[in-house]
Amino acid sequence: MPNALSLCSVSKSFGNFKALDSVDFSVRSGEVHALLGENGAGKSTLMNIACGLYAPDEGHVTMDGKTILLSDARDAASNGIGMVHQHFKLVPAFTVLENLALFNRGRPASETGARAQELAREMGFELDLARRTGSLGVAEQQRLEILKVLVAGARFIILDEPTAVLSDQEAQALMVMIRGLADAGSAVILVTHKLHEALNHSDRITVMRGGRKIAETAPDDMDAGKLTTLIVGEQIIETPEPSPSIGQTHVRLSEVRVPGQGGRKGLEGVNFRVRSGEIYGVAGVAGNGQNELAEVMMGIATQTSGSIEIEGHGDVSQMTPGARRRIGLASIPVDRYRFGLAGRRSIADNYAVSGVLSGKYGGWFRFKRALARKLTREAVEAFDVQGVRGTGMRAGLLSGGNAQKLVIAREFESEPEVVLAHSPSRGLDVRAGAAVHERLRAARDRGAAVILISEDLDEIFLLSDRIGVLSGGRMVAEFEAPANRNDVGKAMISHE
Ligand code: ADP
Ligand code: MG
Repeated sequence: MPNALSLCSVSKSFGNFKALDSVDFSVRSGEVHALLGENGAGKSTLMNIACGLYAPDEGHVTMDGKTILLSDARDAASNGIGMVHQHFKLVPAFTVLENLALFNRGRPASETGARAQELAREMGFELDLARRTGSLGVAEQQRLEILKVLVAGARFIILDEPTAVLSDQEAQALMVMIRGLADAGSAVILVTHKLHEALNHSDRITVMRGGRKIAETAPDDMDAGKLTTLIVGEQIIETPEPSPSIGQTHVRLSEVRVPGQGGRKGLEGVNFRVRSGEIYGVAGVAGNGQNELAEVMMGIATQTSGSIEIEGHGDVSQMTPGARRRIGLASIPVDRYRFGLAGRRSIADNYAVSGVLSGKYGGWFRFKRALARKLTREAVEAFDVQGVRGTGMRAGLLSGGNAQKLVIAREFESEPEVVLAHSPSRGLDVRAGAAVHERLRAARDRGAAVILISEDLDEIFLLSDRIGVLSGGRMVAEFEAPANRNDVGKAMISHE
């Protein structure tokens, strides 16, 4: 059984952009090796080379010291290398078994199914092979992706930002699973930009920045401060800043109901108000109505009763999403690819869409393309969107954090009166997360009413002027900042 996989001096360019510059990286069985770096540092590119998706321009891959050639993912699989990608590659219309079998062709499906059941049991969860994959939750889909590569016999397991899409609790469970895999003799690469995951759950840490390897170290020699400095090249510490001035009630939700979907609870009569110049933090355990609340405010969920009043516009419950946007409601959705950006369209198209609606570019028929491009370039600059090689580049090529910054640039361009942000820093690195928080505070400071929905209590406490706790589809408690963390935590679980 081979026990070490190494990438030796690998370089990779896209056009004339050097994404990797002579990077060395290795992992051995029994260890969890964390690969840390900001969005765009080159982590995914490096891992795509390790799993045979990209060929390096220079350098090579070795297993136990011998060079191996990986011309595609199949070669990697036959060498025991399996990667769970940042964006899942499951077929939603297929069942769990069909997805497993698709990835493990050349073996009877019944055998694949039995092996998957066995592995799932070892890892401590139940697997329903007949379930349609599209109906699984994110964490379940991720476990299926992991099972997929394990069933194929992977002993080198690459997880690309696996916790970016998970709640705190789900992430905790995943860390336990990862440790179990390493203890059983697998080599695990944990790609992440979360300091605590690297510090608490890895045996070795490699830090990348700008396509280069900056450091390789042990978690025991590191702390959050040192690690941040390595990752971003500077120290970033965020502290709470109270609102300079809170005004009148600007948004009021009364008895808002939304039916639940897929066995989940919806909203069962939600009441709260947000004043201008205030950040209202909505805390809660994932799955207690957060998605429904965000979607009903944006106008994409079915509201069966109640009202959403916005000062000066009355009840907006019946307004289309476009109409809400035009009266000054901006949103940073949790799923930026699904609701935020059109991945196949250019960066300029994605940025300009709100301006097109408002007629800023001369309407659909005499679209001022040059103006749209110019303003896009300025926004990209102002919001520090990195990795943009021309405004004609497909938005889907941006890394997660930079895609998020593009959504924010667009949403904040028109100085919205009401801002709805759902887990705005999820999936972002420290610097990008701090930049997003700064934008939210700036919107508040110029008088916007900001609603922050987040399952990350740190984020809630860092930003909120007032905190509401959403549990079982209702706002069950409210706290003025500075609130007691224990009290908020208790309210979060009291009604489950
Ligand atoms: P990370 O995973 O650390 O966030 P990536 O490896 O995804 O970073 O990206 C590194 C850089 O390479 C980014 O600037 C990204 O835009 C660029 N890049 C990645 N894949 C491609 C591609 N297929 N074509 C062009 N540029 C790419
Ligand atoms: Mg990546």
